[in-house]
Amino acid sequence: MTEKKRIRAVAIDGPAGAGKSTIAKAVSRALGWVYVDTGAMFRSMALFLLNRNISEWEQAEVSRAVADANVVLSFADGEQRIILNGEDVSDRIRDERVGNAASRISIYPEVREAVMKLEQNAAEKGPVVMDGRDIGTVVLPFADTKIFLTASAEVRAKRRAEELRSKGEHCETEDILRDIRERDERDRSRETAPLRQAEDAVLIDSSELTVDEVVRRILALVRERESKETLR
Ligand code: C5P
Repeated sequence: MTEKKRIRAVAIDGPAGAGKSTIAKAVSRALGWVYVDTGAMFRSMALFLLNRNISEWEQAEVSRAVADANVVLSFADGEQRIILNGEDVSDRIRDERVGNAASRISIYPEVREAVMKLEQNAAEKGPVVMDGRDIGTVVLPFADTKIFLTASAEVRAKRRAEELRSKGEHCETEDILRDIRERDERDRSRETAPLRQAEDAVLIDSSELTVDEVVRRILALVRERESKETLR
């Protein structure tokens, strides 16, 4: 078997609402690495289409249009900001409507191709903590540390609802649970880069764990990998 070229990166994949971004941010702060939120890239593509009134169901139109979406990542104090055709859309993309549209367009290969270029460019610039659905399997298959972070659908829906309420948004946990189940199904069953655990990923179920506990586990794994590298 040929020796794989490893890259210094933490890839965190998992279903919607598993806490990937909270965990990834904390891990990146602790390591001093850049955090790359790939869901935000799909969300900005979705916002771009919504702004242009392009239906997320029209694959041909969506595939043509995404070529005109100029998505740029900028980093300020370790925080990722996302600039869509010159406008900072980091806050606007957090809307549930944008999230649902992002999930629908993410099944199209042309959309995934466009986002993958952005993801791989970001990882080339230095060590990153990147979260998404296919980072360990497709985008950064040689990442040093791979995590598959999950939690039960009920726990994820409850967390998401609490997060939205804390921002003053009204929502029903039942509606969020339905959306989460739909998204899980779409993410797992799509043909291109479906959500699945990479063979060499470590599974962490966060249903019964605190954020701190999850972060500590991941940091221990990274440190273990890094010490092996220096020993080589
Ligand atoms: O993680 P987040 O909810 O921000 O992602 C929005 C949508 O983008 C997800 O529901 C998923 O369908 C899609 N996505 C993806 N691959 C990624 C990141 C997100 O398909 N790497």
